[in-house]
Amino acid sequence: MATAGFTISYLGTGSGGSTLRDHTAMVLECPQGERILLDAASGNTVLRHGEQLGISPTEFDHCLLSHSHPDHCEGLPHIEMQRSRRNPAEAPMQVYGSERATSDIATLLAYPQRGLTVDADGVRRRDGRLVFTLQPTEPGEWVQLSPNVRARCAPVDHIGGAMAWRVESGERSVVFSGDTRWCPSLAELAEGATLLIHEALCVEAERHRAEETAHSTAAEAARIAQLAGVQALTLTHIDNAYHLDTEPLVAEARSVYDGPVSVAFDCWQQSV
Ligand SMILES: [Zn+2]
Ligand SMILES: [Zn+2]
Repeated sequence: MATAGFTISYLGTGSGGSTLRDHTAMVLECPQGERILLDAASGNTVLRHGEQLGISPTEFDHCLLSHSHPDHCEGLPHIEMQRSRRNPAEAPMQVYGSERATSDIATLLAYPQRGLTVDADGVRRRDGRLVFTLQPTEPGEWVQLSPNVRARCAPVDHIGGAMAWRVESGERSVVFSGDTRWCPSLAELAEGATLLIHEALCVEAERHRAEETAHSTAAEAARIAQLAGVQALTLTHIDNAYHLDTEPLVAEARSVYDGPVSVAFDCWQQSV
C-alpha cells in the first residue's frame, strides 16, 4: 500500500557473523508504491521474511547492491528461482552495483549447477530468457528507477567496490551505508536525508573489532547522521552481542546525534 513517505521492510538485520538474525536485506516501498530491494541477504531470507510481511519477490524489479560479500548478495539466485516459478514470463531483475560488485555477482550466478548463463546482456535461464540484467553504476551517476524514483551511489571504505546508496522520491530520501568503516564522504551522500540506515557492529569500547573487520561503531554511524543533518537514524547489521540488548548502541548513538535513533530488527517495518 502506498503511503505518503517511504516504508522500509527490514528482512534481515544481522552482521555477517550473526547466528541470531538473518543477513542484510531491505525492501523500500516508495511514496508512489514502487518497491526496491536493497541488498539480497543470503539464502532464502528475502523470500521467507517477505512472505511474513506479504511482499512477493515478483513485486520488485530493481535491486541495489552495496557490495559483494556473501551476506549481502547470496540470496539473489533464490529470489530469481521464486520469481520465475511465480511468473514464468517475469521481466528481468535489474541489479545495480559497482563494476566490481556486478562482476562478482556474475561469477556467483554462473555457478554450474544453477542452470544460469552469463552473457553481455545479463543472466539467462536455460530456455534463453533473461532473468537478471547487471548494471555497473558509477559513483555519483543518477539511476532513474521509475518516473518518480531515482538513486545514486558513493564509494565507502569496506572492500573493493563497496557503495552506499541514496534513493530519492519527491522531497524524501533514504540512504543506506552498506558495510563501511567510518567514512566521512558518506555524510555528503546522506546530506539532509529523511532517513540514514547505517551499519553498527559495536560500541566504541570495542572499536578494535570494528577496525579489524572494516565496520563502524554506533558513535561513528551517529557522527555521519549528525554531519549530514539527516532527520532520523536507524542502525542495522547487528552483531550477536547486541541482538537482545540494543540499548548500548542506541545510547552511544544518542550521545552523538540529536535526532531519533532506532535499531532495526528482522521483519520490522519503518515508515518515514
Ligand atoms: Zn555484511
Ligand atoms: Zn561486508
